[in-house]
Amino acid sequence: MPKQKTANKRATNWHTLAAADTVARLSSDRHHGLSSGEARARLKQYGRNRLPRPPKRSAFIRFLLQFHNILIYVMLTAAGTTAMLGDWVDTGVLLAAVIVNAIIGFIQEGKAEQAMDAIRGMLSLHTTVIRDGKRLEIEAEKLVPGDIVTLASGDKVPADLRLITGKSLRVNEAILTGESEAVEKTAGPVLNDAPLGERFCMLFSGTLVTSGQASAIVVATGLRTELGRISSLLRQVRSTTTPLLRQIDRFGRWLALAIVLLSIATFIVGVLWHGHPPKEMFMMAVALAASAIPEGLPAIMTITLALGMRRMAKRHAIIRHLPAVETLGSVTVICSDKTGTLTRNEMTVQKLATADHVFTVSGVGYEPDGGVYLNGAAVTADNCPELEEIARAAVLCNDAQLHRDADESWQLAGDPTEGALLAFAVKTGKDPAWEREKRPRTDAIPFESEHRLMATLHHDHKDNGLIFVKGAPERILEMCDRQGGLQQNQTTLDTGYWLRRAQAFAADGLRVLAIAGKLVEDSKREVSFADLENGFTLLALAGIIDPPREEAIAAVKTCVGAGIRVKMITGDHVDTAQAIGERLGIGLGKPTLSGAQIEALNDEQLQEVVLEVDVFARASPEHKLRLVEALQAAGQVVAMTGDGVNDAPALKRADVGVAMGLKGTEAAKEASDMVLADDNFATIGNAVYVGRGIYDNIQKFILFMLPTNGGEALVVLAAIFFELTLPLTPAQVLWINMVTSSTLGLALAFERPERDVMLKKPRAPKEPLLSWFFAWRVLMVSTLFMIGALGLFLWETQRGSSLETARTMAVSTVVGAEMFYLINSRYIYKSVLSLEGLFGNAYVLIAIAACAALQIAYAHTGPMQALFGSTGLSPNEWLKVACVGFFIFVAAELEKAVIRWLFVGVAVVRR
Ligand code: ATP
Repeated sequence: MPKQKTANKRATNWHTLAAADTVARLSSDRHHGLSSGEARARLKQYGRNRLPRPPKRSAFIRFLLQFHNILIYVMLTAAGTTAMLGDWVDTGVLLAAVIVNAIIGFIQEGKAEQAMDAIRGMLSLHTTVIRDGKRLEIEAEKLVPGDIVTLASGDKVPADLRLITGKSLRVNEAILTGESEAVEKTAGPVLNDAPLGERFCMLFSGTLVTSGQASAIVVATGLRTELGRISSLLRQVRSTTTPLLRQIDRFGRWLALAIVLLSIATFIVGVLWHGHPPKEMFMMAVALAASAIPEGLPAIMTITLALGMRRMAKRHAIIRHLPAVETLGSVTVICSDKTGTLTRNEMTVQKLATADHVFTVSGVGYEPDGGVYLNGAAVTADNCPELEEIARAAVLCNDAQLHRDADESWQLAGDPTEGALLAFAVKTGKDPAWEREKRPRTDAIPFESEHRLMATLHHDHKDNGLIFVKGAPERILEMCDRQGGLQQNQTTLDTGYWLRRAQAFAADGLRVLAIAGKLVEDSKREVSFADLENGFTLLALAGIIDPPREEAIAAVKTCVGAGIRVKMITGDHVDTAQAIGERLGIGLGKPTLSGAQIEALNDEQLQEVVLEVDVFARASPEHKLRLVEALQAAGQVVAMTGDGVNDAPALKRADVGVAMGLKGTEAAKEASDMVLADDNFATIGNAVYVGRGIYDNIQKFILFMLPTNGGEALVVLAAIFFELTLPLTPAQVLWINMVTSSTLGLALAFERPERDVMLKKPRAPKEPLLSWFFAWRVLMVSTLFMIGALGLFLWETQRGSSLETARTMAVSTVVGAEMFYLINSRYIYKSVLSLEGLFGNAYVLIAIAACAALQIAYAHTGPMQALFGSTGLSPNEWLKVACVGFFIFVAAELEKAVIRWLFVGVAVVRR
């Protein structure tokens, strides 16, 4: 590949070349970009623009790692010992138990990894590129050297680029240089030996644009980028753990150690005190350890979280950091943006106020069907000169594009606020393309939330310069001293009149935008903030409707019912925010606080008011950060949404940072814990719902697993200490462990969130997972298991049944009781005595059916009888086994009823 070699060789000195030379050397065109055919050919030649994934652990290594577990060590030691003693049957059973355990763990882990991979794939980077003279949005992976890309603040640089033009461009290169201050970028070449951090004309893959705009050419992709060179250093260890999982893991280890010690004590007591044969006691101690150690605990937790993440992803909430799943369940405040999240972001200009008139505009969405009316009569730019200038400004001070789809519907590319202005201009009879042609744009100041305005500089073909601005009325009014037309009908600005008009529009829930312009000399080629200080003529105020999302109204209600406060933090006008808030059910009857008012408060004062106010208007990203901090200081657990580059600090600070998937910048996504694929507030509500369900499932699993393990252990311990014939042989204990532990409990990972999960208060973040109530439940159920299995065994031996029969019944009782108790465990406090409760989870039913089949095979098939010393049972005996299971089921339900009755309204039951 000769071409690739050249590119590689030259890749070291792109920064010394002028932009035009770079474009020429890469055979590209700065305005038209590459042709799509050439891009395809180069993609073949250079490969995809991505770094190789960190090597995955091979399946074999993953399988081997399953053996790295305290229980397995115990069982392997035991297998070695029995083999030395020549007890091949026990060795076989032990080894089989070890292998079954490893296979189950391997499959479970594989499922969890698959779910995580699928979610990672949803966050692929997109970028804007110019090909065949058209702007396209493509996956960054498909970029090739020579592609012309455009970047704006908040974008992640998709490859190594040579800057062609930049405006106020600053880039954070911390990932490459460690320098946290953003670097200013300019297009001029630099010296050959300039270090990476001083190559001001280069943009490096993986860095973040913090402000400004740029057009640049791709010079290196994939592994040939600077990031690619050091990528081995950046390979992150993928973490699939959370504080809760770590807590459980630690708990599991301590428990395992305690159980091993208990088993050793049992061995010593059994041999020395009770005089049991050492070989039998040794196997018993091993079986005891195997039955009591909750080895599946961490694996099933991970699976529960991974499955939950997949469920969330299906509902458009993509989790970036696993711990967020847990935190979501304890969120007490959700702070949301307004536009697009609580509202539909489908904007339409409805009213237009000029110095003398108020026009109404008909039609909805971006279809240019509809018209402009003055006192009921239709008007156009042709017959109403004051409209003409406004429509022109609306088209020119605008980056959006409207185009017709194959199905004839109108589609918007760009900002919806601007789309609304464009559709309005078309309704006045203006042709946007013709306007742009007649007065081409020379320069622009793009819209940024902090400035709340956008400005563009144009020149017509008669050598006149013209600046148009549009933005928040109070910002634009500051710059104006006249009103009316740019060249005629001008009068002095009547600020009071415009403020009244703006307030009237806002009180109707309309978003208000002011449009102004001024004439400048022809020689002016750049527009800066200094040009925006004064001298403008206010042309009009546009009132734009952006209806609330129906689903957001419902979601706000659900959240409030779930004990979560919803706060709206918006850059919009106070009155608009309040009016929209009222329609959404946010901040009813409460005051609204503006950004300026937030600034006037110190941290203590803010902390006091922050709980009382639900609508914050004209707020900027810095205000968001202060609000999160104030809420956290007041003891709240905060989820905060954001989309802009400057929202990153607030998103990072929040307990759950939520970025917008559609309109969010890469910077916001990188700082967030969760990304909303559809930008919809209702999705946050859904994520909280699923998050609470996941936490519940983890609790349910613990409450299932610990007592079933404990039950088996108690049966053995009681027999040893009361010097009874052992009701379970060591091999039989291992059998129970093989067929039930993890496999039955796994079904609980698929449990859907309970219907009333959003009627409960948020979980206290510090609430321990294993409460006193849990300890009680574990003890009670373990004892029930012990009484059931041991009781039936003793009864049968007393009645004269053979030891094999009594033992087979004891084993079947434990297995059967676990099946029944699995159904109990579907709800922690609620009764399962309903159709939904008994049959609502197909996985539970399948697990029970599989387990029942195995248990019947255990009793009735020859090889099993030979291995485990089991024997066939009569229908009558099976009935007794089932009765004990049923008795435990009823007892467990009764306990729940008593708990509900004792603790009505108390936190323990509410959660
Ligand atoms: P959110 O509720 O998500 O914060 P918002 O749209 O209300 O969104 P910003 O996007 O920060 O808040 O906008 C703040 C103000 O800036 C708007 O009220 C409007 O007056 C003005 N504005 C919005 N979009 C543009 C634009 N494209 N050009 C000029 N001014 C704009």
